[in-house]
Amino acid sequence: MRVTPVPESEWVVDREDGARPKNDVPELCPVCEQGGAQEWLRGPDRLHGRQELYTLVRCPACSLVWLSNPPKPAEMHLHYTDAYHRLISAGGQNSPERWRERSAALTQWKRSGALLDLGCSSGSFLEFMGSESWKLHGVEMSAEGARTAEKRSKAQVFVGDILNATFPRESFDVITCFDVLEHLYEPRRVMARIGEWLKPGGIFYVLVPNVDSAEARVFGSYWHGLELPRHLFHYSPASLKFLAESAGLREVSLETRRNPAVGTSLRYVGDDVFSAVGIRRTPVAYRGEASLPWRAARKLVRMTILRGLLAMAPLVGGGESIHAIFRKEKSSA
Ligand SMILES: [Zn+2]
Repeated sequence: MRVTPVPESEWVVDREDGARPKNDVPELCPVCEQGGAQEWLRGPDRLHGRQELYTLVRCPACSLVWLSNPPKPAEMHLHYTDAYHRLISAGGQNSPERWRERSAALTQWKRSGALLDLGCSSGSFLEFMGSESWKLHGVEMSAEGARTAEKRSKAQVFVGDILNATFPRESFDVITCFDVLEHLYEPRRVMARIGEWLKPGGIFYVLVPNVDSAEARVFGSYWHGLELPRHLFHYSPASLKFLAESAGLREVSLETRRNPAVGTSLRYVGDDVFSAVGIRRTPVAYRGEASLPWRAARKLVRMTILRGLLAMAPLVGGGESIHAIFRKEKSSA
């Protein structure tokens, strides 16, 4: 489904503190470098049930949303708890269905060559792609993740920050980046590297949450895709495209898809409802399997109210995740 940028009149207004938005945030847009960014919403880290509020601002030119004053890189580990990592790996890291779909999307454009997976984690996508056709590479921050990835996929994995990797120019036919770009501090610099590392005609396949999605608007600061403060940038189809174009890439296909994780956003709404009557529930990061009555209530909401709201999704911004494929121009430097 193709989508267009959201008109200003439809932006999410969800302000925890009830304050008026400030008109001028003295920050230039990190993607398009325009001024005039406005405060968009405030919210806490609901996953861990923490109180500190974070401020998101939005660029009026390219619609990028970003975290104003993010935690310093040296402090970021405080926000990636063991509970978080457990939740992520439990969330279906080893889902072959997911990899099959992505592999099919990719092989429409490239069937062989050198493939680099940015933020390859423990290598389940690389392992899935393992065949005579592909020479596999990865970049992974966690040394343990990288070791596992190398073992299971036979890929060469660079351990560390993407910006510290030193691949020769025009090394790769394909670069993939799934659920990673939104965590990076310097998206423009990373995108420039991607542009350098791709061969002319090479493909960049990226997945990010869609901040213009119906769910993001319906839930505001309760939208689970915000992942404050771990997600530093929140892309829309328009801002993602702008970012890719800044590195000499052109859109080949861009679509948004529904994501069945709506239950987490509902849970965050529920947490606040309970807290308003003095009941503090265990934050999502630390809870076990949801209790039966809660699951039933959630299902009911999903089948009634949400179905109605989400039926409007194509009109108001589309599905929760953006699946985009870009190609490096043959003539680009
Ligand atoms: Zn911008």
